[in-house]
Amino acid sequence: MLKLNALKDYTLIDLTHPLSIDMPQWETNDGFSLNVEYDYSDCPEAVKFRTQKMQTRLGVGTHIDGPAHCIAGGMTVDELPLTSLISPCVVIHIAAKAHAHYVLSVDDIHTFEAEHGVIAAGSFVMIATGWSRWWSQADKYRNNLQFPSVSAEAAALLLARNVVGLGIDTLSPDVGNSEFPVHQLFLSAGKYLVENIAHADRLAPVGDAILVLPMKIQQATEAPVRLLGLHVN
Ligand SMILES: [Zn+2]
Repeated sequence: MLKLNALKDYTLIDLTHPLSIDMPQWETNDGFSLNVEYDYSDCPEAVKFRTQKMQTRLGVGTHIDGPAHCIAGGMTVDELPLTSLISPCVVIHIAAKAHAHYVLSVDDIHTFEAEHGVIAAGSFVMIATGWSRWWSQADKYRNNLQFPSVSAEAAALLLARNVVGLGIDTLSPDVGNSEFPVHQLFLSAGKYLVENIAHADRLAPVGDAILVLPMKIQQATEAPVRLLGLHVN
C-alpha cells in the first residue's frame, strides 16, 4: 500500500465518534436526524443513487466550539486558521481517578508538567477522563450534565501556557448548572474547544499531534469535526 512519506512515523488514530440518532447530546436527543431522501429504487435510470438528508444542531458529536459560540464578534469556525487546527497535542490522562464530579485542577497540570515538562506554547491540550466509555449509553454519558470537567483556574493556567485549544472526552469542559467558566475563558481568548473526543486514551502524554478538521460552514459558531490523532510510532 502506498504510504504518504510525511506520515510514515505516525499511526493515524480516529478520535471521532460517529454522528448517529441515538448519540448523547447536550440537549435532549432530538437534535440530529438522517434520512434517505431519494433511494436506489426511486431511480429509473440505469445508474442508481441514494441521497440522504441530515438535520442537526452544529454542536453534536465530536465537535468544535469557535470563539463566536460565546463571544459576539469572535471568530467563527470557518475563520479559524489551519495553523491552529494542526498542532502538537498534549494529553493529560486522568481516567484512573476521574469520576462524574471530578474537576481537573491546577495541581493536576502541575503534576503533569513535573513529569513531562511545561506545556509548550502552541499545543492543543486534551483531557482524557475515560468518560467516552459511556458514549454508547447516552443517558449514562449525559448523566444530567454531570461528568468530569475542568476548573476555571486550570483553564486560566492553560491559557497562560498559550495553548491553541482545549479538548475533552465528555460533553463539555463545563458541567451543566455552571457559569461555563472554561467556555468564557477560552473563547474570549480567541481559542477553541473540542468536545466529545473518542479514544483519547490512545495518545501519548506528549509528542503526538492532532488534526482538527471541522465542516467549513460559513459563520458557524460550532461544527462537527473529524478529529485525527497522529501517534508517533
Ligand atoms: Zn462547548
